[in-house]
Amino acid sequence: MSEAKTYPSDPVQPPLQLGELEPAPVEGCPGCAELANVRDRARAGGDMTTVTDCNVYMRRHPEGHQ
Ligand SMILES: [Zn+2]
Repeated sequence: MSEAKTYPSDPVQPPLQLGELEPAPVEGCPGCAELANVRDRARAGGDMTTVTDCNVYMRRHPEGHQ
């Protein structure tokens, strides 16, 4: 291994990759709007677990959209 990038303690989770993990709320969908709301508040509070949860739910949502 020639990589000299060694950290004292590996982070348990890789940094979030925006763009891949951030689905956009669908216009006119109350569920998406609510999720976006919760996600915003969670992010403001540093609660990345909830942010991820919202993203997962939001990404599943499109299956329920027409
Ligand atoms: Zn939706």
